[in-house]
Amino acid sequence: MSSSKATLEKIVSLCKRRGFVYQSGEIYSGLNGVYDFGPLGALLKHNIKNKWLTCMMSFAEEVVLVDGSLLGSADVWKASGHLDNFSDPMVDCLQCKKRYRADDVDLEKNCPHCGNKNWTSVRQFNLMFKTELGAMADATSVAYLRPETAQAIFINFKNVMSSYRVKVPFGIAQIGKAFRNEITPKQFLFRMREFEQMEMEFFCKGEDADRFFELWVERRKQFFMQLGLTPERIRLRPHASDELAHYSKACIDVEYDFPFGWKELEGIANRADFDLTQHGKHAGKDLGVFDDATKSSYVPHVVECSVGVDRLFLTLLFDAYDEDEVDGETRTVLRLHPAIAPFTAAIMPLSSKISEQAEKIFLHLKTKGYRVQFDDGGSIGKRYRRQDEIGTPVCFTYDFDSETDGKVTVRNRDTMQQERVAIDGIEDYLKNLLAKN
Ligand SMILES: [Zn+2]
Repeated sequence: MSSSKATLEKIVSLCKRRGFVYQSGEIYSGLNGVYDFGPLGALLKHNIKNKWLTCMMSFAEEVVLVDGSLLGSADVWKASGHLDNFSDPMVDCLQCKKRYRADDVDLEKNCPHCGNKNWTSVRQFNLMFKTELGAMADATSVAYLRPETAQAIFINFKNVMSSYRVKVPFGIAQIGKAFRNEITPKQFLFRMREFEQMEMEFFCKGEDADRFFELWVERRKQFFMQLGLTPERIRLRPHASDELAHYSKACIDVEYDFPFGWKELEGIANRADFDLTQHGKHAGKDLGVFDDATKSSYVPHVVECSVGVDRLFLTLLFDAYDEDEVDGETRTVLRLHPAIAPFTAAIMPLSSKISEQAEKIFLHLKTKGYRVQFDDGGSIGKRYRRQDEIGTPVCFTYDFDSETDGKVTVRNRDTMQQERVAIDGIEDYLKNLLAKN
């Protein structure tokens, strides 16, 4: 599938026009780097998360789900290193007070905003949002909005082990919000201040970590193929040794070819025993696991797979976006995978005179749990365009023959081919469509 026609401007405009994404607080001039998801965006996001979780839980090794708190005490972020190291170098323009990431501007040149050259020195700016719990403001009341979801998994490792019958090797997965006070949020959903992550931490013995790392890299790559992303726009980029965190043994980014260059979509890392060792040390707790075979205790190693929901959302839109020509007019179409598309099908009466019969089919499918939309406004051509633009894979049209032959016309989004199918066969048709890989 081609996405060469997609630009950031076109995607932003489509998202707003059709109710995928809105600037947060738009009626009050907006909040920079923060977005709200509209009816279609919320459905698309839900489908992405659902697909990720289903995939994570489909393998032979057990993967359990947790849902950690958004607030974390200073202790957690001290142990994880975020309190001391999670910062970006930033610089201010003394003239117009605009703040930049130091690597985003050329300090030899003038301020891109006001044209003066009057920079502060480069300072470190911690990306965590700090807050206070309760009415008494002292050191013990300080908390931070989590800048990543992973720590909630590490600090609950022992809880999960002791309360839930699970044995190493196994994974803990989590989908949830995280917050980073980015100095310069940019490229729409690509770098946001409030975002959602899908992370899985896989715990295993140290000697098995390399093998599981390779396995998860392959599985994660397969996942993106299953979502229908164009294979040529996906690549694996192993980190060079000087890019790796000091504790990390290996890291591979799954990158996507965005209009603004190859960028990280997912990071897969062999984190060794760093996380559990750090938390064990700081909390003064033994986070080791007893091995019955060797009669000794060891700290499990971790393989991490981490992808942003919003970034994947943006990627899918870029990849699915296409324009072609129909009857001399430009058609905008989102070629989304049927399992991901906000709606699987639209049900349309050819004329308002037979609206009632078409609605009966719609309600039947809806109550059976299919994501279908009833669309009876405007010419049939207009309705097709509308559904194409939001990525609905098929439209079923009830016409004047339907009453007598018990069939409807199904029209395919991608091929625009039409065929007659029995009304009784619509459910099977949708089932096949959703099962397609
Ligand atoms: Zn300036």
